[in-house]
Amino acid sequence: MEPLPQGAALKDVQEYVRRLEVERGFIGRSITDQALKFGSEAGEVLDAVAAYNGQPQNGERSAADLGSEAADALIMLVSVCNRAGIDLEDAFRRKEQINETRRWR
Ligand SMILES: [Mg+2]
Repeated sequence: MEPLPQGAALKDVQEYVRRLEVERGFIGRSITDQALKFGSEAGEVLDAVAAYNGQPQNGERSAADLGSEAADALIMLVSVCNRAGIDLEDAFRRKEQINETRRWR
């Protein structure tokens, strides 16, 4: 599989994840399965953050894992969005347009 190009846009990441799922045989998994895997990967990010803060909750997890676990979580989030036909860049822009009207403390 061709690597993700440098400077790839979000739509390129979505297409890359679609292709990796075909190539690795994951494309038939349901959106619910992928959402559960996203939750699991998000938990691994939390473990890596705890290790980053010097308070490892899981002996196998180190601070160096944070980027790796963030990438796993992103792949699973994109996988969920791909199944729902969501254009993440468009969703991001729409949500930020709403967020910009909110008052933040
Ligand atoms: Mg992971």
